[in-house]
Formats: sequence, C-alpha cells, structure tokens
Amino acid sequence: MRCSHCLVNFHDNWLPGTFYRRNQPTGWTYHTAACPACERLTIVIENDDGEQRIVEPISTSRGPISNFVPSEISIDYTEACNVLPISPKASAALARRCLQNILNTFGYKAKDLAKQVDALINETDPKKALPIGLHETIDAIRNFGNFSAHPIDEKTTLQVIDVEAEEAEWCLEILKELFEHFYERPAIAAQKKAALDAKLAAAGKPPSK
Ligand SMILES: [Zn+2]
Repeated sequence: MRCSHCLVNFHDNWLPGTFYRRNQPTGWTYHTAACPACERLTIVIENDDGEQRIVEPISTSRGPISNFVPSEISIDYTEACNVLPISPKASAALARRCLQNILNTFGYKAKDLAKQVDALINETDPKKALPIGLHETIDAIRNFGNFSAHPIDEKTTLQVIDVEAEEAEWCLEILKELFEHFYERPAIAAQKKAALDAKLAAAGKPPSK
C-alpha cells in the first residue's frame, strides 16, 4: 500500500494489537505500520464487527502546497483536506470558500460563486486564460448540479450543503491546480525574468519585455 503521509509505497509490515477491558479482549483491535521512507505511523482500528477505520493519518496527503500560495488561502485548503474523511460537506464548504477567495483576489468578482467561475472560464486575456486541461476540468463544475444550484454569496460562503464525497474531493483537486496557475507558475516566471534582467543589466542592456 501507499503511505498516506508521504505517498511512497511500502510493504505491509503491520503489527497487530488488541484493546482490553478488565484484562479481557474487547474485540476491538488495531494494526500499525511504520513507513520506511518517512517513518510515520499508519494506524488502523477494527471493531468487533470487522469494520476498519484509519485513525492516523486522518487524511491522505495531497502533497505539499506551494510556498507561493498565501497562508490565508492555504489554511482553508489544508483544513478542507483534513476534514474530508469525516465530513465531505464541511470539506466542500471550505474548498468553495477557498476557491471564492482566489477568484476575488484575481478580480473575478460576481454575485455568486457559479458566476465567478463563469467569468474565469470566459477569460479572454491570453495571459490570464486557463490552460486547456484546467479549463475543461473547471468547466465540468457546471455538471455538478449542487455546485451551481446553490449560489454562494458573502452571506452563505460557509454554507453547508449536500455534496457527494467525490465532489468534495474533486473541489480539492481543482484548488491544487489553481494554486499552480494563479500562484506558482507566475511566481516562477517572475523569478526567471528577474534573473534574466539582472544578467542583461550586468551586460549593460535594457531589461526583457
Ligand atoms: Zn511515508
């Protein structure tokens, strides 16, 4: 299986354990496995009906968030990831707020989130337009009935609405891609340009366009 902390594959090296009450086994057991790569524990508990639940880590890592994403944005995203296994509704509400904050920051303002997403999809400035793959993914938002059926404005930003777990998960994936589009790629491009301009300046030439 894959380690949910670092996403590296590891061989199952589970150690079993039992929960006792007054020196008698309760029927509840646990299994722990340490990841050889990151050394962190995965802990699974099993009840007397054989139902299993992973209690550590609470959620699967989606990989690190770029340092270029401002903390007020990444906080909502991280929390949305963490609560996903417990409450897809809460996760989706946080993910939507995060999405709305990004769109507000970049000037896609509208009365509700669905219209803001429309504005993003219809962006005509080639410098700002979404790459094709991401454009198609975001366009699929329209296919999630709940997403557009429940307009989200300032008053209802954290409104909890019915969502499927997959929809909540999908929101998080979109966010991860938007982080790249809005924060990471432009920041890296700016760094490269600055480095180039420094070289040009050293050679006595004007900065690049
Ligand atoms: Zn690991």
